Amino acid sequence: MSLYARAARHAWRMAGVVVLAVLLVVIVDRFYGHSTLAFAAAIMMLLVANAPMLRFNCPKCGKNAFFRGPFVVFWPNRVCTRCSEDLAAAPSQNR
Ligand SMILES: [Zn+2]
Repeated sequence: MSLYARAARHAWRMAGVVVLAVLLVVIVDRFYGHSTLAFAAAIMMLLVANAPMLRFNCPKCGKNAFFRGPFVVFWPNRVCTRCSEDLAAAPSQNR
C-alpha cells in the first residue's frame, strides 16, 4: 500500500476521532454542565490518535506528507512538496 493511501486512511480515522471528541464534549456538556475536564479529555484523545501522523514521511527526502511548507493540513499530499516524489505510486518502506 502506498504512503498516500495509508496517510489518507489515517486522515479518515482522524475525522472519525474528531467527531467522537466533539460528541464527547457535547454529551458531557448536556448531562453534567460545562466541563473543562471533558474538553481536556477530548484534546488528549485527538493528540494520541494523531500521533501516527508523524510517521507518514516521504521515502525519498523524509518530508511529512501532512505538511505543506510549515503548515499542517488535514489531507496528505499525493506528491511530495519538497522533492516531488509520487507518494501515491511507490509502496513505502515506512516503519
Ligand atoms: Zn520527498
